[in-house]
Amino acid sequence: MTPKKPYQNFLNNLRKAAKTIKLSPEALQRLEEPEMVHEFEVSFELDNHKKKTVPGYRVEHNSARGPYKGGIRFHPEADLDEVKALAALMSLKCGVVNIPLGGGKGGITVDPKELSRSELERMSREYFRIGTEKGIFGVDRDVPAPDVYTNPQVMAWMLDEHEKVLGYKSPGVITGKPLELGGSLGRNYATSQGGFYILMKYLQASGKKPEETTIALQGFGNAGAYFAQIAHKAGMKIVAASDSKGGIKRAKGYFESKKLNEFKKESGSLRGNFCDGDNCDLEKMRREDVETVSNEELLQLDVDVLVLAALDGVVHKDNAKKIRAKAILELANGPVTLEADEILEKENVDVLPDILANAGGVTVSYFEWVQNRSGDVWEEDVVIQKLKKVMQNSFDDLMKIKEEHDVSYRQAAFILGMERIVRAMELRGVI
Ligand code: NAD
Repeated sequence: MTPKKPYQNFLNNLRKAAKTIKLSPEALQRLEEPEMVHEFEVSFELDNHKKKTVPGYRVEHNSARGPYKGGIRFHPEADLDEVKALAALMSLKCGVVNIPLGGGKGGITVDPKELSRSELERMSREYFRIGTEKGIFGVDRDVPAPDVYTNPQVMAWMLDEHEKVLGYKSPGVITGKPLELGGSLGRNYATSQGGFYILMKYLQASGKKPEETTIALQGFGNAGAYFAQIAHKAGMKIVAASDSKGGIKRAKGYFESKKLNEFKKESGSLRGNFCDGDNCDLEKMRREDVETVSNEELLQLDVDVLVLAALDGVVHKDNAKKIRAKAILELANGPVTLEADEILEKENVDVLPDILANAGGVTVSYFEWVQNRSGDVWEEDVVIQKLKKVMQNSFDDLMKIKEEHDVSYRQAAFILGMERIVRAMELRGVI
């Protein structure tokens, strides 16, 4: 596989979109580089009383439309290049769904699986203490959220640390919090629900009914499992699903999402319910009408929609030609590489891009921020109705651009986000 170069990928897409709309060199230059890059050391005590120091980052890409917004990831491979790319994509994503926020992203290069709960807490608090004391994080300045290997509990520790430094309450400084600390109803499945609304609009535009739509789903974590539930309820047919241990496929017919949840719950992985390594219980598979598939095979199934909800870079130049799905829904960030994008476009496979398809998460994060600032608590159906409207409007806005410029969905999304940010910069007089 080609080495990952996320920032270069972002730049290539950005420059291509800029060329289409003949963006001024000055505006392009503004979008090519983040406004601020913060790099600092995070030192914390291990349970054995030794000190550990890990690199921490916060990249703030663009704030013309509002405070910086974007998650914090803890990952051994998180580095500045990746965080810069993700911050820039957040600016565009907030532009695409037209919420008044800019783009940022944070990270710590660490393997959180090697830390105890108390070590994880000390590291999370220290990262946020530094960020608060440096004046990075603030309810009207830069508002983080969960990302890979961070969760509501981590957000709770970070909020608590922030408020300790400030000496007063400021729940809107971070989103994706537990409900008890000001989190929003609907946030846990917002990404999947938002992706579902985009897929429904796409199917409608293609003249296809949900109950005629077959799906293969890669990734059965937060985004994937909720998506399965929502898609199944709408009548879509889930043919196959996978997680890091491999996948399963119905020999005939389709999976009920409830059944997939049961399989996952019983043994921690979908395939693990039937196989221990290469040793598979063929009788159980026959009884349950299940076949196994590898993650690579799942990508190549002949279905209407391939939903990618696991890792970045899974569809690349070496397997893009083998994709038989008619469309790809990117719930994960960056699952289709730049080279693969070009191949898929030639093969007429539509890619509904991450900055549109998974923007339901940041949209409900924005709703959480609004609720925290107003002191209001919205009912779940209010959140979901508002989310539906945002996602449907974004799809319609994107379609106008796609038709006007005759470009891919990804390029149309880049143009939509970019034009909105540029307009805000013009109004501010910074360009
Ligand atoms: P998660 O950790 O809950 O789930 C990830 C899933 O991917 C798990 O089922 C895991 O087993 C599977 N997986 C890991 N390695 C795999 C492999 N090699 N092949 C197949 N499956 C593999 O994470 P999540 O929150 O569901 O996020 C998934 C993706 O969606 C990430 O790219 C994330 O950035 C993106 N995303 C999530 C949200 C959200 O709100 N959860 C929002 C925006 C984007």
